[in-house]
Amino acid sequence: MAITVKEGSLEKPTRHPLDWKSEAFYEEASLNKELERVFDICHTCRRCVSLCTAFPTLFDLIDDNPTMEVEGVAKADFGKVVDQCYLCDMCYMTKCPYVPPHEWNVDFPHLMLRAKAVKFKKGEVGFRDKLLSNTDAMGKLASIPVVVQVVNAVNKNSVARGLMDSVLGVHKDRELPEYDSAKFRNTARLNETFPVRNGVQTPGKVAIYSTCYINYNEPGIGHDLLKILAHNDIPARLVEKEVCCGMPKLELGDLEAVARNKAINIPVLAKLAREGYAILAAVPSCALMFKQELPLMFPDDAEVKAVAEAMYDPFEYFVLRQKDGLLKTDFKTPLGKVSYHIPCHLRVQNMGQKTREMLEKIPGTTVTTVERCAGHDGTWGVKSEYYDNSMKIGKPVFKLMADAKPDYISSDCAIAGRHIQQGMNEADGGNKAEKQHPVTLLRIAYGL
Ligand code: SF4
Ligand code: SF4
Repeated sequence: MAITVKEGSLEKPTRHPLDWKSEAFYEEASLNKELERVFDICHTCRRCVSLCTAFPTLFDLIDDNPTMEVEGVAKADFGKVVDQCYLCDMCYMTKCPYVPPHEWNVDFPHLMLRAKAVKFKKGEVGFRDKLLSNTDAMGKLASIPVVVQVVNAVNKNSVARGLMDSVLGVHKDRELPEYDSAKFRNTARLNETFPVRNGVQTPGKVAIYSTCYINYNEPGIGHDLLKILAHNDIPARLVEKEVCCGMPKLELGDLEAVARNKAINIPVLAKLAREGYAILAAVPSCALMFKQELPLMFPDDAEVKAVAEAMYDPFEYFVLRQKDGLLKTDFKTPLGKVSYHIPCHLRVQNMGQKTREMLEKIPGTTVTTVERCAGHDGTWGVKSEYYDNSMKIGKPVFKLMADAKPDYISSDCAIAGRHIQQGMNEADGGNKAEKQHPVTLLRIAYGL
Protein backbone atom coordinates (compact mmCIF):
# COMPACT_ATOMS: atom_id res chain seq x y z
CA MET A 1 0.00 0.00 0.00
CA ALA A 2 1.39 3.38 -0.97
CA ILE A 3 1.18 6.15 1.59
CA THR A 4 1.45 9.75 0.48
CA VAL A 5 2.11 12.48 2.99
CA LYS A 6 0.79 15.63 1.44
CA GLU A 7 2.14 19.11 2.00
CA GLY A 8 -1.02 21.16 1.80
CA SER A 9 -4.09 20.50 -0.25
CA LEU A 10 -5.28 21.56 -3.67
CA GLU A 11 -8.88 21.35 -2.54
CA LYS A 12 -10.86 24.29 -1.18
CA PRO A 13 -10.42 24.58 2.62
CA THR A 14 -13.48 23.60 4.58
CA ARG A 15 -14.47 23.92 8.21
CA HIS A 16 -16.24 21.26 10.19
CA PRO A 17 -19.32 22.20 12.21
CA LEU A 18 -18.62 22.75 15.89
CA ASP A 19 -19.82 19.74 17.86
CA TRP A 20 -20.50 22.01 20.85
CA LYS A 21 -23.70 20.31 22.02
CA SER A 22 -22.07 16.91 22.58
CA GLU A 23 -20.68 15.86 25.95
CA ALA A 24 -17.47 14.69 24.27
CA PHE A 25 -16.73 18.29 23.21
CA TYR A 26 -16.20 19.20 26.89
CA GLU A 27 -14.35 16.00 27.88
CA GLU A 28 -11.00 17.25 29.14
CA ALA A 29 -8.95 14.11 28.45
CA SER A 30 -10.11 14.03 24.83
CA LEU A 31 -9.46 17.78 24.48
CA ASN A 32 -5.90 17.35 25.82
CA LYS A 33 -5.31 14.47 23.40
CA GLU A 34 -6.40 16.63 20.48
CA LEU A 35 -4.34 19.60 21.72
CA GLU A 36 -1.30 17.34 21.95
CA ARG A 37 -1.89 15.97 18.44
CA VAL A 38 -2.24 19.42 16.84
CA PHE A 39 0.55 21.01 18.91
CA ASP A 40 2.84 18.24 17.67
CA ILE A 41 2.00 19.04 14.04
CA CYS A 42 2.62 22.75 14.75
CA HIS A 43 5.93 21.91 16.45
CA THR A 44 7.27 20.32 13.28
CA CYS A 45 5.83 23.04 11.07
CA ARG A 46 6.28 26.38 12.92
CA ARG A 47 5.01 28.49 10.02
CA CYS A 48 2.83 30.58 12.34
CA VAL A 49 5.56 31.70 14.72
CA SER A 50 5.24 35.38 13.79
CA LEU A 51 1.44 35.62 13.65
CA CYS A 52 0.61 36.14 17.30
CA THR A 53 1.89 35.22 20.75
CA ALA A 54 0.05 31.86 20.99
CA PHE A 55 2.61 30.07 18.78
CA PRO A 56 5.77 31.48 20.41
CA THR A 57 4.25 30.50 23.78
CA LEU A 58 3.75 26.94 22.52
CA PHE A 59 7.21 26.69 20.97
CA ASP A 60 8.87 28.04 24.14
CA LEU A 61 7.03 25.44 26.23
CA ILE A 62 8.31 22.73 23.89
CA ASP A 63 11.87 24.00 23.54
CA ASP A 64 12.34 24.74 27.24
CA ASN A 65 11.42 21.28 28.52
CA PRO A 66 14.10 18.53 28.62
CA THR A 67 12.41 16.31 26.01
CA MET A 68 12.04 19.22 23.57
CA GLU A 69 8.83 17.51 22.47
CA VAL A 70 5.12 18.24 23.09
CA GLU A 71 4.87 15.16 25.30
CA GLY A 72 7.19 16.87 27.79
CA VAL A 73 4.90 19.91 28.18
CA ALA A 74 2.71 19.78 31.30
CA LYS A 75 -0.98 19.55 30.34
CA ALA A 76 -1.65 22.35 32.83
CA ASP A 77 0.48 24.62 30.62
CA PHE A 78 -1.64 24.04 27.50
CA GLY A 79 -3.93 26.79 28.79
CA LYS A 80 -1.10 29.32 28.46
CA VAL A 81 -1.23 28.83 24.68
CA VAL A 82 -5.04 28.99 24.63
CA ASP A 83 -5.08 32.27 26.59
CA GLN A 84 -2.83 33.95 23.99
CA CYS A 85 -5.23 33.12 21.16
CA TYR A 86 -7.85 35.79 20.40
CA LEU A 87 -9.44 33.80 17.56
CA CYS A 88 -8.44 36.07 14.69
CA ASP A 89 -8.45 33.01 12.36
CA MET A 90 -5.32 34.13 10.53
CA CYS A 91 -3.38 30.88 11.09
CA TYR A 92 -6.25 28.93 9.56
CA MET A 93 -6.77 31.38 6.71
CA THR A 94 -3.31 32.39 5.64
CA LYS A 95 -0.73 29.87 6.76
CA CYS A 96 -1.92 26.40 7.50
CA PRO A 97 -1.51 23.77 4.74
CA TYR A 98 -3.13 21.10 6.93
CA VAL A 99 -6.65 22.49 7.25
CA PRO A 100 -9.54 20.22 6.24
CA PRO A 101 -9.98 18.46 3.83
CA HIS A 102 -6.29 17.61 4.49
CA GLU A 103 -6.20 14.35 6.45
CA TRP A 104 -4.37 16.00 9.37
CA ASN A 105 -7.46 18.11 9.94
CA VAL A 106 -5.85 21.06 11.71
CA ASP A 107 -8.24 23.87 12.64
CA PHE A 108 -6.15 25.65 15.25
CA PRO A 109 -8.59 28.51 16.04
CA HIS A 110 -11.54 26.19 16.54
CA LEU A 111 -9.45 23.90 18.74
CA MET A 112 -8.60 26.98 20.83
CA LEU A 113 -12.30 27.81 20.89
CA ARG A 114 -13.09 24.32 22.20
CA ALA A 115 -10.45 24.74 24.93
CA LYS A 116 -11.96 28.11 25.88
CA ALA A 117 -15.42 26.51 26.03
CA VAL A 118 -14.10 23.79 28.36
CA LYS A 119 -12.49 26.43 30.56
CA PHE A 120 -15.74 28.40 30.69
CA LYS A 121 -17.76 25.29 31.55
CA LYS A 122 -15.37 24.55 34.42
CA GLY A 123 -16.15 27.99 35.86
CA GLU A 124 -12.61 29.23 35.38
CA VAL A 125 -13.56 32.51 33.68
CA GLY A 126 -13.49 35.51 36.00
CA PHE A 127 -15.70 38.55 36.60
CA ARG A 128 -13.64 40.95 34.41
CA ASP A 129 -13.87 38.74 31.32
CA LYS A 130 -17.60 38.20 31.75
CA LEU A 131 -18.16 41.93 32.26
CA LEU A 132 -16.19 42.94 29.15
CA SER A 133 -18.11 40.43 27.03
CA ASN A 134 -21.45 42.01 28.04
CA THR A 135 -21.19 44.69 25.36
CA ASP A 136 -24.94 45.17 25.14
CA ALA A 137 -25.59 45.50 28.89
CA MET A 138 -22.53 47.73 29.37
CA GLY A 139 -23.59 49.91 26.43
CA LYS A 140 -27.14 50.28 27.76
CA LEU A 141 -25.90 51.32 31.18
CA ALA A 142 -22.99 53.50 30.12
CA SER A 143 -24.96 55.47 27.51
CA ILE A 144 -27.64 56.67 29.95
CA PRO A 145 -27.43 60.51 30.09
CA VAL A 146 -25.37 61.69 33.12
CA VAL A 147 -23.96 58.15 33.53
CA VAL A 148 -22.35 58.59 30.12
CA GLN A 149 -20.44 61.70 31.25
CA VAL A 150 -19.25 59.94 34.39
CA VAL A 151 -18.12 56.82 32.50
CA ASN A 152 -16.30 58.84 29.84
CA ALA A 153 -14.61 61.02 32.51
CA VAL A 154 -13.57 57.98 34.56
CA ASN A 155 -12.10 56.34 31.46
CA LYS A 156 -9.84 59.37 31.01
CA ASN A 157 -8.88 59.82 34.66
CA SER A 158 -5.43 58.44 35.46
CA VAL A 159 -6.20 57.69 39.14
CA ALA A 160 -9.41 55.86 38.24
CA ARG A 161 -7.63 54.02 35.45
CA GLY A 162 -4.90 52.90 37.86
CA LEU A 163 -7.63 51.46 40.07
CA MET A 164 -9.36 49.79 37.12
CA ASP A 165 -6.02 48.23 36.22
CA SER A 166 -5.25 46.81 39.66
CA VAL A 167 -8.79 45.86 40.71
CA LEU A 168 -10.48 44.97 37.44
CA GLY A 169 -7.60 44.06 35.13
CA VAL A 170 -8.28 46.68 32.44
CA HIS A 171 -4.92 48.10 31.40
CA LYS A 172 -4.47 51.72 32.47
CA ASP A 173 -2.85 52.79 29.18
CA ARG A 174 -5.46 51.32 26.84
CA GLU A 175 -7.45 54.17 25.29
CA LEU A 176 -11.08 53.16 25.63
CA PRO A 177 -13.87 54.24 23.28
CA GLU A 178 -16.30 56.83 24.60
CA TYR A 179 -19.99 56.07 25.02
CA ASP A 180 -22.62 58.24 23.33
CA SER A 181 -25.99 58.95 24.93
CA ALA A 182 -27.48 59.61 21.47
CA LYS A 183 -27.63 55.92 20.57
CA PHE A 184 -27.64 55.13 16.87
CA ARG A 185 -30.85 53.14 16.99
CA ASN A 186 -32.69 56.04 18.71
CA THR A 187 -31.40 58.75 16.39
CA ALA A 188 -31.17 57.02 12.99
CA ARG A 189 -32.84 59.00 10.20
CA LEU A 190 -34.28 56.39 7.91
CA ASN A 191 -35.70 56.75 4.44
CA GLU A 192 -37.72 53.82 3.18
CA THR A 193 -39.56 55.73 0.46
CA PHE A 194 -37.20 55.08 -2.47
CA PRO A 195 -38.47 52.51 -4.99
CA VAL A 196 -36.79 49.12 -4.60
CA ARG A 197 -34.40 48.46 -7.50
CA ASN A 198 -33.02 44.94 -7.23
CA GLY A 199 -29.78 44.32 -9.09
CA VAL A 200 -28.48 41.03 -10.46
CA GLN A 201 -26.16 40.71 -7.47
CA THR A 202 -27.74 42.96 -4.85
CA PRO A 203 -31.13 43.30 -3.18
CA GLY A 204 -32.50 46.82 -3.65
CA LYS A 205 -33.50 47.36 -0.01
CA VAL A 206 -31.36 47.32 3.11
CA ALA A 207 -31.86 46.51 6.79
CA ILE A 208 -29.17 47.76 9.17
CA TYR A 209 -27.97 45.53 11.99
CA SER A 210 -26.49 48.36 13.99
CA THR A 211 -24.05 46.36 16.25
CA CYS A 212 -23.32 47.23 19.91
CA TYR A 213 -20.27 49.30 19.02
CA ILE A 214 -22.01 51.58 16.53
CA ASN A 215 -25.16 51.81 18.63
CA TYR A 216 -23.42 52.82 21.86
CA ASN A 217 -19.92 54.06 20.97
CA GLU A 218 -19.69 55.50 17.47
CA PRO A 219 -23.22 56.17 16.14
CA GLY A 220 -21.74 58.51 13.53
CA ILE A 221 -20.61 55.52 11.44
CA GLY A 222 -24.22 54.32 11.28
CA HIS A 223 -25.49 57.79 10.36
CA ASP A 224 -22.88 58.01 7.59
CA LEU A 225 -23.97 54.63 6.24
CA LEU A 226 -27.57 55.82 6.10
CA LYS A 227 -26.52 59.01 4.27
CA ILE A 228 -24.68 56.96 1.64
CA LEU A 229 -27.66 54.65 1.16
CA ALA A 230 -30.04 57.61 0.81
CA HIS A 231 -27.69 59.32 -1.67
CA ASN A 232 -27.90 56.16 -3.76
CA ASP A 233 -31.72 56.02 -3.48
CA ILE A 234 -31.62 52.76 -1.54
CA PRO A 235 -34.47 52.34 0.98
CA ALA A 236 -33.14 51.51 4.43
CA ARG A 237 -34.62 50.44 7.74
CA LEU A 238 -33.29 49.17 11.04
CA VAL A 239 -33.57 45.56 12.15
CA GLU A 240 -36.62 45.84 14.49
CA LYS A 241 -34.93 44.27 17.47
CA GLU A 242 -31.33 43.23 17.98
CA VAL A 243 -29.00 42.09 20.72
CA CYS A 244 -25.24 41.49 20.59
CA CYS A 245 -24.20 39.13 17.78
CA GLY A 246 -22.50 36.94 20.40
CA MET A 247 -18.89 37.27 19.23
CA PRO A 248 -17.55 38.49 22.63
CA LYS A 249 -19.27 35.51 24.28
CA LEU A 250 -17.85 33.14 21.67
CA GLU A 251 -14.35 34.45 22.33
CA LEU A 252 -14.89 33.70 26.00
CA GLY A 253 -16.07 30.16 25.26
CA ASP A 254 -19.56 30.90 26.61
CA LEU A 255 -21.39 29.04 23.86
CA GLU A 256 -24.69 28.85 25.75
CA ALA A 257 -24.78 32.67 25.82
CA VAL A 258 -24.07 32.71 22.06
CA ALA A 259 -27.08 30.39 21.60
CA ARG A 260 -29.29 32.65 23.75
CA ASN A 261 -28.43 35.72 21.63
CA LYS A 262 -28.87 33.71 18.46
CA ALA A 263 -32.39 32.74 19.58
CA ILE A 264 -33.30 36.45 19.79
CA ASN A 265 -31.53 37.73 16.66
CA ILE A 266 -32.05 35.00 14.10
CA PRO A 267 -35.88 34.93 13.84
CA VAL A 268 -35.94 38.72 13.28
CA LEU A 269 -33.07 38.66 10.77
CA ALA A 270 -34.38 35.58 8.96
CA LYS A 271 -37.72 37.31 8.38
CA LEU A 272 -35.87 40.23 6.75
CA ALA A 273 -33.78 37.81 4.67
CA ARG A 274 -36.95 36.07 3.46
CA GLU A 275 -38.47 39.45 2.58
CA GLY A 276 -35.49 40.15 0.31
CA TYR A 277 -33.47 42.62 2.37
CA ALA A 278 -29.70 42.88 2.29
CA ILE A 279 -28.66 43.01 5.95
CA LEU A 280 -25.66 45.30 6.49
CA ALA A 281 -23.38 45.16 9.54
CA ALA A 282 -20.51 47.67 9.61
CA VAL A 283 -18.46 45.78 12.25
CA PRO A 284 -16.55 42.90 10.59
CA SER A 285 -16.61 40.62 13.66
CA CYS A 286 -20.40 40.89 13.89
CA ALA A 287 -20.88 40.15 10.17
CA LEU A 288 -18.47 37.22 10.53
CA MET A 289 -20.48 35.86 13.45
CA PHE A 290 -23.57 35.61 11.22
CA LYS A 291 -21.70 34.52 8.10
CA GLN A 292 -19.41 31.88 9.60
CA GLU A 293 -19.57 31.08 13.32
CA LEU A 294 -23.34 30.69 13.79
CA PRO A 295 -23.63 28.48 10.66
CA LEU A 296 -20.86 26.26 12.10
CA MET A 297 -22.60 26.10 15.48
CA PHE A 298 -26.04 25.48 13.96
CA PRO A 299 -25.32 23.69 10.66
CA ASP A 300 -28.88 22.34 10.23
CA ASP A 301 -30.71 25.58 10.95
CA ALA A 302 -32.27 26.93 7.74
CA GLU A 303 -32.90 30.37 9.28
CA VAL A 304 -29.23 30.74 10.25
CA LYS A 305 -28.29 29.83 6.67
CA ALA A 306 -30.75 32.38 5.23
CA VAL A 307 -29.30 35.12 7.45
CA ALA A 308 -25.72 34.18 6.49
CA GLU A 309 -26.64 34.56 2.82
CA ALA A 310 -28.35 37.93 3.34
CA MET A 311 -25.56 39.41 5.52
CA TYR A 312 -23.18 41.89 3.85
CA ASP A 313 -20.25 43.99 4.87
CA PRO A 314 -21.20 47.52 3.65
CA PHE A 315 -18.36 47.68 1.11
CA GLU A 316 -19.11 44.20 -0.16
CA TYR A 317 -22.62 45.52 -0.85
CA PHE A 318 -21.43 48.79 -2.41
CA VAL A 319 -18.97 47.10 -4.80
CA LEU A 320 -21.62 44.59 -5.93
CA ARG A 321 -24.11 47.43 -6.24
CA GLN A 322 -21.72 49.26 -8.50
CA LYS A 323 -21.29 46.12 -10.64
CA ASP A 324 -25.08 46.12 -10.90
CA GLY A 325 -24.79 49.69 -12.27
CA LEU A 326 -26.81 50.99 -9.32
CA LEU A 327 -24.24 52.93 -7.29
CA LYS A 328 -23.45 56.59 -7.92
CA THR A 329 -19.82 57.60 -8.35
CA ASP A 330 -20.37 61.36 -8.25
CA PHE A 331 -17.54 61.87 -5.76
CA LYS A 332 -16.81 65.49 -4.94
CA THR A 333 -14.03 65.39 -2.35
CA PRO A 334 -10.63 63.77 -2.91
CA LEU A 335 -9.32 61.96 0.16
CA GLY A 336 -5.59 62.31 -0.54
CA LYS A 337 -3.45 59.59 1.02
CA VAL A 338 -5.30 56.92 2.98
CA SER A 339 -3.52 54.24 5.02
CA TYR A 340 -6.08 51.50 5.17
CA HIS A 341 -5.95 48.44 7.44
CA ILE A 342 -7.91 45.29 6.64
CA PRO A 343 -8.98 43.64 9.90
CA CYS A 344 -8.58 39.88 10.26
CA HIS A 345 -12.30 39.26 10.66
CA LEU A 346 -12.91 40.94 7.31
CA ARG A 347 -10.17 38.93 5.57
CA VAL A 348 -11.74 35.75 6.92
CA GLN A 349 -14.96 36.60 5.09
CA ASN A 350 -13.19 35.65 1.87
CA MET A 351 -14.63 38.36 -0.32
CA GLY A 352 -11.51 40.18 -1.51
CA GLN A 353 -10.53 43.75 -0.64
CA LYS A 354 -13.84 45.46 -1.26
CA THR A 355 -13.17 48.55 0.90
CA ARG A 356 -9.89 49.20 -0.91
CA GLU A 357 -11.60 48.71 -4.29
CA MET A 358 -14.25 51.29 -3.44
CA LEU A 359 -11.87 53.87 -1.92
CA GLU A 360 -9.61 53.59 -4.98
CA LYS A 361 -12.50 54.65 -7.20
CA ILE A 362 -12.51 58.07 -5.53
CA PRO A 363 -10.52 60.56 -7.67
CA GLY A 364 -7.54 62.13 -5.93
CA THR A 365 -7.20 59.24 -3.50
CA THR A 366 -4.22 56.94 -2.99
CA VAL A 367 -4.76 53.93 -0.78
CA THR A 368 -1.94 52.13 1.05
CA THR A 369 -3.32 48.80 2.20
CA VAL A 370 -1.99 47.03 5.30
CA GLU A 371 -3.08 43.42 5.48
CA ARG A 372 -1.75 42.28 8.83
CA CYS A 373 -3.19 41.59 12.26
CA ALA A 374 -3.16 44.70 14.49
CA GLY A 375 -3.39 42.54 17.62
CA HIS A 376 -6.27 44.12 19.50
CA ASP A 377 -9.31 41.86 19.06
CA GLY A 378 -12.57 42.96 20.72
CA THR A 379 -11.55 42.76 24.36
CA TRP A 380 -8.20 40.88 24.41
CA GLY A 381 -5.97 43.95 23.99
CA VAL A 382 -7.85 45.79 26.75
CA LYS A 383 -6.90 43.27 29.44
CA SER A 384 -3.94 44.15 31.66
CA GLU A 385 -2.04 40.92 31.08
CA TYR A 386 -2.31 41.05 27.26
CA TYR A 387 -1.93 44.79 26.63
CA ASP A 388 1.84 44.69 26.05
CA ASN A 389 1.56 41.76 23.64
CA SER A 390 -1.28 43.51 21.85
CA MET A 391 0.89 46.62 21.27
CA LYS A 392 3.82 44.40 20.25
CA ILE A 393 1.76 42.51 17.65
CA GLY A 394 0.43 45.82 16.32
CA LYS A 395 3.85 47.50 15.99
CA PRO A 396 4.53 46.49 12.35
CA VAL A 397 1.02 47.68 11.44
CA PHE A 398 1.56 51.05 13.16
CA LYS A 399 4.80 51.48 11.20
CA LEU A 400 3.40 50.43 7.82
CA MET A 401 0.41 52.75 8.29
CA ALA A 402 2.70 55.66 9.24
CA ASP A 403 5.25 55.08 6.45
CA ALA A 404 2.80 56.31 3.81
CA LYS A 405 2.55 59.71 5.62
CA PRO A 406 -1.22 59.54 5.24
CA ASP A 407 -3.90 62.20 5.48
CA TYR A 408 -6.28 59.59 6.88
CA ILE A 409 -5.86 56.29 8.73
CA SER A 410 -8.74 53.87 8.52
CA SER A 411 -9.81 50.33 9.38
CA ASP A 412 -13.13 48.60 8.83
CA CYS A 413 -12.85 47.52 12.46
CA ALA A 414 -13.38 50.73 14.44
CA ILE A 415 -11.74 49.18 17.51
CA ALA A 416 -8.64 48.23 15.49
CA GLY A 417 -8.64 51.78 14.10
CA ARG A 418 -8.48 53.22 17.62
CA HIS A 419 -5.72 50.79 18.56
CA ILE A 420 -3.68 51.71 15.47
CA GLN A 421 -4.14 55.41 16.17
CA GLN A 422 -2.93 54.91 19.74
CA GLY A 423 0.10 52.94 18.53
CA MET A 424 0.96 55.58 15.91
CA ASN A 425 0.52 58.41 18.41
CA GLU A 426 2.89 56.72 20.84
CA ALA A 427 5.53 56.05 18.16
CA ASP A 428 8.40 58.40 17.44
CA GLY A 429 7.27 61.40 15.45
CA GLY A 430 3.65 60.97 16.50
CA ASN A 431 0.77 60.89 14.13
CA LYS A 432 -0.68 63.77 12.14
CA ALA A 433 -3.30 61.77 10.23
CA GLU A 434 -7.00 61.88 10.99
CA LYS A 435 -8.68 58.57 11.90
CA GLN A 436 -11.93 57.89 10.11
CA HIS A 437 -13.91 54.74 9.46
CA PRO A 438 -14.06 53.78 5.74
CA VAL A 439 -17.84 54.39 5.71
CA THR A 440 -17.21 57.93 6.93
CA LEU A 441 -14.49 58.39 4.28
CA LEU A 442 -16.99 57.39 1.60
CA ARG A 443 -19.53 59.86 3.00
CA ILE A 444 -16.88 62.62 2.93
CA ALA A 445 -15.93 61.69 -0.65
CA TYR A 446 -19.57 61.99 -1.73
CA GLY A 447 -19.62 65.46 -0.15
CA LEU A 448 -22.57 64.51 2.10
S1 SF4 B 1 -6.46 32.35 15.59
FE1 SF4 B 1 -5.12 34.16 15.51
S2 SF4 B 1 -4.55 34.52 17.65
FE2 SF4 B 1 -5.33 32.40 17.52
S3 SF4 B 1 -3.55 31.14 17.18
FE3 SF4 B 1 -4.37 31.62 15.16
S4 SF4 B 1 -3.24 33.46 14.49
FE4 SF4 B 1 -2.93 33.24 16.71
S1 SF4 C 1 -1.49 26.06 12.54
FE1 SF4 C 1 -0.82 24.94 10.69
S2 SF4 C 1 0.64 26.35 9.67
FE2 SF4 C 1 0.40 27.08 11.78
S3 SF4 C 1 2.11 26.14 12.90
FE3 SF4 C 1 0.28 24.81 13.13
S4 SF4 C 1 0.44 23.30 11.47
FE4 SF4 C 1 1.85 24.99 10.96
